[in-house]
Amino acid sequence: MNIVVCIKQVPDTTDVKIDPKTGTLIREGVPSIVNPDDKHAIEEALRLKEKFGGKVTAVSMGPPQAEDALREASAMGVDEMILLCDRAFAGADTWATSYALGTAVRKLGFDLVICGREAIDGDTAQIGPQMAEHLGVPQITYVRNVEMGDGKIICERALEDGYERIEANLPALITVIADLNKPRYPSVRGIVEAYREKEVKVWTAGDINADPQCIGLEGSPTEVQRTFAPEPKGEGEMLEGSTEEVCSQLVSRLKDKNVLR
Ligand SMILES: Cc1cc2nc3c(=O)[nH]c(=O)nc-3n(C[C@H](O)[C@H](O)[C@H](O)COP(=O)(O)OP(=O)(O)OC[C@H]3O[C@@H](n4cnc5c(N)ncnc54)[C@H](O)[C@@H]3O)c2cc1C
Repeated sequence: MNIVVCIKQVPDTTDVKIDPKTGTLIREGVPSIVNPDDKHAIEEALRLKEKFGGKVTAVSMGPPQAEDALREASAMGVDEMILLCDRAFAGADTWATSYALGTAVRKLGFDLVICGREAIDGDTAQIGPQMAEHLGVPQITYVRNVEMGDGKIICERALEDGYERIEANLPALITVIADLNKPRYPSVRGIVEAYREKEVKVWTAGDINADPQCIGLEGSPTEVQRTFAPEPKGEGEMLEGSTEEVCSQLVSRLKDKNVLR
């Protein structure tokens, strides 16, 4: 089975700070990691390969330093690493990013594409579903369990109050959540091979025959009007007194705010 895993390098924080003057992310001093959901995607791909044979390829689109994320995936056991890196990709919104990733995945050939559910920096959870649309394959999102059978994938898709079981024909794309598995630690041998011996292939827009109108700023229909950090909320207030006094003060405050009548 030919499995492609999409991994994103993200800042190691969910507390993203925005420069108030430029409206851009402050990345200085924040180390980068593999997006947490993507480690579960890598783990599942490796488990499927161990069970059914085949090959696992990790693909990332990003600046040259995103190579580190790919090497980490390789240390876990991924066979091949592809970095989509070209100035022509810069300024891509989710639609242009998923087009570029989808075009690379199509060039590689695949039975299954596995993405994380969501990146902790961009937070849109749009890349997997959009890529499935670009590729014209079925998608199952929020996957918490995977089974394979006779040219099909059968997944448990997490819902707020339970799960649903969904079956799709291969080739297909799934997006996975942390409940799916426990990502393995890279072995020492894996680390040595990933950092000393294995090659990260760098593909440009030309290498994937990307339509220039569909990538980077040109291919991005999203227009960002403004980015800003939300105003900090006012300080909380502690109510003092006995339980009865505190409850009575609370009820009166809620009535003042029309929350209670
Ligand atoms: C107008 C505009 C301009 C932008 N310009 C830039 C820019 O110049 N540089 C920049 O870095 N970002 C830019 N962005 C942000 C960029 O579009 C998003 O980070 C990207 O599309 C992924 O979206 P997300 O982070 O919400 O990922 P999600 O959709 O939340 O990610 C879900 C999953 O998709 C996969 N995935 C997501 N991104 C990648 C990736 N890059 N490589 C491989 N797999 C991936 C992973 O498996 C991930 O778990 C821009 C956004 C907009 C709207």
